[in-house]
Amino acid sequence: MKKIFTGVYRIGKNIATINNVRGFRVYDEGLVNVKDVEYRTWSPYRSKLAAAIHKGLKKFPFKENSNVLYLGASSGTTASHISDICFNGNIYCVEISKRMMRELIPVAEKKENIIPILADANHPEVYIHKVTNVNIIYQDVAQPNQADILERNSEFFHPENAIIAIKARSINTIESPKKVFKKEINRLKERFHILETIDLKPYDKDHILVNLKSKNKIKK
Ligand code: SAM
Repeated sequence: MKKIFTGVYRIGKNIATINNVRGFRVYDEGLVNVKDVEYRTWSPYRSKLAAAIHKGLKKFPFKENSNVLYLGASSGTTASHISDICFNGNIYCVEISKRMMRELIPVAEKKENIIPILADANHPEVYIHKVTNVNIIYQDVAQPNQADILERNSEFFHPENAIIAIKARSINTIESPKKVFKKEINRLKERFHILETIDLKPYDKDHILVNLKSKNKIKK
């Protein structure tokens, strides 16, 4: 067992996080005990952040006390691992689908630093009052206006870092993914420094994950 990043470990071929609710499983992940510590294996096929780590992500912004605004949390697969890593922070999970929210709520009832917010990420003005001191925005919404959504939320929450998963087919089904990615990255460059861009193949087809650092330093 080897530490890769804050709160992320390698156990054999798997990566894993330390379970902040012992015995609790969120999807079909494995629970592994090493020296009385329980780890949850983190599947790169179920989580784009895990896929990016397997593909050689270099800079990991999450810390034990980071507050994370998670846009497109779905049923909480990736959010649950971020909850383990940032166990002293809050994970504000915005999700538009009522069906997904119904699956996220039982996860949030167990993992108490997950705060579910049923809302459209296009409208941060609706949830600004529920969210404080955001350090990182993590976005995975698969919408045609992905860069706009990040831009708008950054205007409201001023994160130091952001990570965005971009799905080429959600933006343009005709243009080549390479061209689509280039355009989106150019948009993101207005506000952020691009730390790295990771192609998520073979875990996710025509997807990249872009790791970003804000150009404007704001003291929190
Ligand atoms: N990030 C999740 C994970 O790794 O566990 C998977 C996210 S899934 C690819 C995309 C999610 O974004 C869906 O659950 C969808 O309902 C949600 N979504 C799409 N548009 C949204 C919007 N405008 N605001 C909030 N959530 C949205």
